[in-house]
This record gives sequence, C-alpha cells and structure tokens, in this order.
Amino acid sequence: MSTTQNHQNSNDGPLAFFKGEVVPLADAKVSVMTHALHYATAVFEGIRGNWNEEKGVVYIFRLREHYERLLRGCRLLMLDIPYSLDDLCRITVDLVERNGYREDIYIRPLAYKSAELVANLKLQDLASDFTLITVPFGNYLGSDLLRCCTSTWRRPEDTMIPTHIKSSASYINSILAKTEATLAGFDEAIILNQSGRVCEGTGENIFMVDRGRLITPVLEDNALPGYTRETIIQLAQSELGLEVVERSIDRTQLYLADEIFLTGTAAHLTPVIELDNRPIADGKAGPISSKLQEMYFKIVVGRDPKYLHWCTPAVPRLVAA
Ligand code: PMP
Repeated sequence: MSTTQNHQNSNDGPLAFFKGEVVPLADAKVSVMTHALHYATAVFEGIRGNWNEEKGVVYIFRLREHYERLLRGCRLLMLDIPYSLDDLCRITVDLVERNGYREDIYIRPLAYKSAELVANLKLQDLASDFTLITVPFGNYLGSDLLRCCTSTWRRPEDTMIPTHIKSSASYINSILAKTEATLAGFDEAIILNQSGRVCEGTGENIFMVDRGRLITPVLEDNALPGYTRETIIQLAQSELGLEVVERSIDRTQLYLADEIFLTGTAAHLTPVIELDNRPIADGKAGPISSKLQEMYFKIVVGRDPKYLHWCTPAVPRLVAA
C-alpha cells in the first residue's frame, strides 16, 4: 500500500487520510447519504501523539493496541476495511509526519459504513471505508482536579449496544451524561451500569484507592477496555508493588474512597477530588494518584527508556511557511 503519490503539506493546511490517499483536510468530505451519518455505523479510536521537544519527536502512545481495538470493532460491526494492522500504523505515522505539528496532538481514526444508502438497517453488503485526521490537542477535561457528579444516565448493557469496542453509536450515552454534568457545573460525569454499579466516566475508566489497594470495575460491568487503564494497572503492580483488584464497585464505596482518579487517552490520569458535592478524603489529589500520574506523564512523552516500546516515534516534517 503506497501513499507516495499524495499531497505534501506545504501551506495548504492540514492533511487527512481519506478514500485511500492523503488529501487536504478541506477536501475530505462524505455525502449526506452516508450510512454512518444516519445510523452511527462506525468505530473510532482516540490516540495521543505527545511532543518531545528535546528529541523533536512526536511519540504516539500504544499505537498498535489502539488499532487492535479498532479492528476488533470492525469485526463486530462487519466493517471490511482494506488495511492490515501494519498498514494502519504506517498510514498514521506518515500522516503525523506530514501534518508537521510540533506539539501534542490527537489522532482520530474512523472506520465507517461509507455506503450511500439509507433506509437499510443491516451491516452486511454495505461498503466500508477508513479515514484518519490529526489535530493539535491540549488539556481535555479543562481541569487538573475534577469535580464530578453521578449521572442519571446509565451505561447500556453489552446485550443492548456492544460495550467492549469504541462504536460511535455508544457515544450518545456519553454525550448525554457529559452534557448533563457540565450544564450542572461539574467537570465530568460518573456513569453507573444497569445494576447501579460504578462503570466509568464519559470517556475515561475509573479507579479508586481503598487502604492502599487500587480498585477498578471489572470490564463485565460494561466499562470500555481502556489502554490507559491497562497501562496504569501494570505500573501500579510492577512499579509501586500495589495490589490491584478488578471488581464491581458500589456508588457509596466511591464516596468513602481514599482516592479516585480517571484514566483515558484524552484525560491522561486525572484525580477526582469531589463527587456529588462531597470531597473525596481531604479533597486533594492523593499520593498514589500523584505518583502514578507522574510516572505516566514521563512514559507517554518518551522519557522513560524502560517503556519506550509503548511509544511509536514520528518526526514531524517541516511545513513551509
Ligand atoms: N471509557 C470510554 C467510554 C472511553 O471513551 C475511553 C476513551 N477511549 C476510555 C474509557 C479510556 O480508554 P483509553 O484509555 O484506551 O483511551
């Protein structure tokens, strides 16, 4: 698969990967007839590229794993895209390099039903495609210490909408919860599942600390299998020697936790200091959250040689002024 015939980024703005080639983002447009636009028949990823100024490199965190999750979603939603895992990683590094951002970026791949056909409620026999954009990206949650509320919206069960993939359809639930929370003046919502167990944030997994143990909901409580979650579990065990327990969590156990934090590609690791207007412990970032956050930030920007294998380097090309 070659992309060499495509546009170089000069001063014609950002580029996107669209319909098999790299084109100006302004030209990457779909028809209003597109199936995915009507029915959210799509899966996507959120990947971060972290700018390392000393090395002049954007480190893309856990690139392959993100595409493994995307491809699992493709399988589930019968999205036949003509790219292998290696192709997807190569296309991504190439686009990041060509777009030339020398700052933190967000990478958004999307696999979608591109068939221009509505009134067709099935997945089979519909054309699929893949597109990719990259945008500059800073602090996602807008605050380093979060005030959260418990959402009145509940997470769908896996028997309603698949919960282990990042399907576009499932994000209407996150968006309703986030809208409710932010309109009420909170930074983020914590969403419970149908049984009333703690599930996750709108775009983050959740952890609590209880007497030195790190606890996070089991994925079967409908949380997304997050790579930041997986990374933090590994760091907590191997670097801090903490016991990590994956189990169901009751809402009131969160109120009584010693620490709470959220994890996600966009959110990084962000402490929750208040839930439903109650301070968590003394209402400050806790010591375990702070230690894990410090390690995580060092790793994602490629400053910890031990974990450099999680970071795919991309060297931004100089963009003509
Ligand atoms: N849960 C939801 C609902 C999310 O959207 C995300 C962000 N992808 C996460 C959890 C965290 O996943 P990750 O750490 O892989 O970004």
